[in-house]
Amino acid sequence: MKPLTRSLGSLVLVVSTLVGCASNGNGGSAGSEPLSAAETQSLTFTREEEKLARDVYQALESKDGAFTNIKSSEQTHMDAILTLLSRYGVSDPASGKAVGAFTDQTLQKLHDDLVAQGNPSSLAALQVGVAIEELDIRDIEAARKSVTHTDVLNTFDNLTRGSRNHLRSFYGRVKALGGTYTPQYLDAATFRAIVDGPMETGPNR
Ligand code: MN
Ligand code: MN
Repeated sequence: MKPLTRSLGSLVLVVSTLVGCASNGNGGSAGSEPLSAAETQSLTFTREEEKLARDVYQALESKDGAFTNIKSSEQTHMDAILTLLSRYGVSDPASGKAVGAFTDQTLQKLHDDLVAQGNPSSLAALQVGVAIEELDIRDIEAARKSVTHTDVLNTFDNLTRGSRNHLRSFYGRVKALGGTYTPQYLDAATFRAIVDGPMETGPNR
């Protein structure tokens, strides 16, 4: 009976592996339809835009305690986008890229400029933090308009919720240091509504 028991055991293992695959990623409509060109482009860009946030905050980490936690949150944002890229078979632009290095040359220049801009003082660094969060909110909300996949929409919603909280944290630190900030990427009313609103709960990814 031993061989039979062993093959039944293997069969159970195979079946549970298949079930595991079906319910993981490709289950439901979210992962089964291919991404549109616009969705692919948005995810590819967002992967490196989240990396820009992480890498700038790492570079400026010694300037203020706020950077450490928010940098970790940006890593979870990068991971969430990578999960989507992998699910849909899109290549990762950040693959093999060191901290501070980017495939997208616009993001490369922006990274280098923002690190230089934030370096002189804690206040300058925190103002750079606010600017990055504004930019992330603006870009993801623009990209969201051409997205139909529910898993991509959910991830974008989680990322913008995280960004609004990050913006509140950085702006609060700017004010605490006696600084001011003029919105650069969001309109004044949208910016004001975010900073006047409470911190939001929910998955920060
Ligand atoms: Mn982010
Ligand atoms: Mn952020």
